Amino acid sequence: MLIAGNWKMNTDVPEGRALAQVIADRLSTEPQSFEGVDFLVCPPFVHLPAVVDALADSSVAVGAQDVHAEDEGAYTSDVSAPMLTSVDCDYVILGHSERREYYDETDADVNAKVRQARAHDLVPIVCVGETLEQREAGDAESVVRRQVDGTLDGVSIERSEDLVLAYEPVWAIGTGESAAPEQAQEMHAVIRSDLTERYGADVADGVPLLYGGSMKPHNAHGLLSQPDIDGGLIGSASLAADSFFGIAEEAVEVLEETAA
Ligand code: PEP
Repeated sequence: MLIAGNWKMNTDVPEGRALAQVIADRLSTEPQSFEGVDFLVCPPFVHLPAVVDALADSSVAVGAQDVHAEDEGAYTSDVSAPMLTSVDCDYVILGHSERREYYDETDADVNAKVRQARAHDLVPIVCVGETLEQREAGDAESVVRRQVDGTLDGVSIERSEDLVLAYEPVWAIGTGESAAPEQAQEMHAVIRSDLTERYGADVADGVPLLYGGSMKPHNAHGLLSQPDIDGGLIGSASLAADSFFGIAEEAVEVLEETAA
């Protein structure tokens, strides 16, 4: 189970470092409590060295929230894959709906970034999800299939651990209203079957499929209990250690129930 925090454009560097330190401290004092749960945090670019440093003795992985598709050049304000790997960043969120909406990112743009991430051994967390309008028009499945196909076009993945997909219905992000567990499962099953056609069951079955969109401690159990939901991409609830760990505690309960 992968519990990932997307901090977005929140916290300054000392606050981000302090949050990472609280996470590291809790895991070092309770190493047994979160067996089976992998943790990942994705802070803003400028926080990366401080957060990597605070988490250096922990098993928590660190990711960025975007990457440029080129190695270097005249791209004022952008951040490259070699820059990310140079600060020991392992993951990168790509195609988040906020990037698609505010920066007009297309599936082709995301595809170029996914290729670039893989070329530099970064694990892409590819975000897909429909808007409310698309869902109400009955197009949720076709939209998500098109996004998966467009973002992964020509991307070869041979090991499950080299890719993460996040289903994030746009209408659930930051609204406090998550998808119902069954709704989310339905879309995760669509994504899994698409990945199976693309990469075969051996790879597709192990690719973590995260649900994102107002996941909180009170709704995490139902979502994480679904067969094709392998974790969460968590926005606002990842900004406080209590709610982040509250979700992780639910993940542990689900794992125990599944093993029983
Ligand atoms: C997100 O933006 O990735 C997200 C899931 O945000 P929130 O949990 O705040 O809805």
